[in-house]
Amino acid sequence: MTEPTTVQNDDVVVFLAGGNGRASAPLVPVPQSDAAVNVADLAVTRGDGVFESIGVVGGRLIELPRHLARLAHSAELLELPPPDLAAFEAAAHTALAAHAPAPELLVKLFHSRGVETPAHTIDGPTGWVQVLEGADHTAARRDGVRVVLLDRGYRSDIAQTAPWLLQGAKTLSYALNKAALREAARRDADDVVFVSTDGVLLEGPTANVVVRHGDVFRTPRTDLGILAGTTQAAFFDTVRAQGLTAEEAVLTPDDLTTADAAWLCSSGRLLAPIRSLDGAPLPVDAHFTAHVLTQAFGLPT
Ligand code: PLP
Repeated sequence: MTEPTTVQNDDVVVFLAGGNGRASAPLVPVPQSDAAVNVADLAVTRGDGVFESIGVVGGRLIELPRHLARLAHSAELLELPPPDLAAFEAAAHTALAAHAPAPELLVKLFHSRGVETPAHTIDGPTGWVQVLEGADHTAARRDGVRVVLLDRGYRSDIAQTAPWLLQGAKTLSYALNKAALREAARRDADDVVFVSTDGVLLEGPTANVVVRHGDVFRTPRTDLGILAGTTQAAFFDTVRAQGLTAEEAVLTPDDLTTADAAWLCSSGRLLAPIRSLDGAPLPVDAHFTAHVLTQAFGLPT
């Protein structure tokens, strides 16, 4: 086995073999600034692909099997060629080994439909893995985040009535999610929870929501057209291991305003308590949050 190349002072990219979308050599870690995707790749021109963001704490990929399963599920929903999960896993480890160590990192897996050729055939898929340093989430995890409710613009049965909208797939088209976060900033908030037109609580643009009432933890059901969260699932594993109740449910904004505690859950940030909703304070359970961050994700106390 060859020694991993360490790429200094830059994030790292590893392209998978196969497909013509890459302009960099496959399986070799390269600095992100040298990694290039073909401009005709459908990921670039149409956002036509799927991805995963995986948290890395102390060198360990958090919930890797759940992320790989979701990548495959998203690809299926988009009718993409199935991703080579073993190759993605190997590329993730190669890229991680080449990155300068840090207490926390993010590993992103990209699976694009591929390059549209001049003859309008598709040469693909294109796959690559990126390792990068995430933002510092210390304050969000400790103090919580300010959330606003925003209209999602469709009903909660959208996944059944209009499956072509690809609800539940983690696609590369995140422009809407980013627009919602800008709207939150305009409203002097940090994040968003979407509500369907029929009044059902959904998810955030990059996170799932969990509410606690007494010893019962609940999260919106995934058949409501939302992403099945890996962080929320790990959170629920920990809750259940303590003998507490954790369940999927149909929730409304009232369930959030009356909660004893509530969180946004996502791979980079892990858990962020919701400390206000539309400007009204919500209770933050700092002690329990810190406990789960350690138990479920291995964060140092
Ligand atoms: N919902 C959406 C729309 C997301 O984009 C994400 C993650 O980015 C999540 C939920 C949370 O998923 P996970 O905890 O697996 O990161």
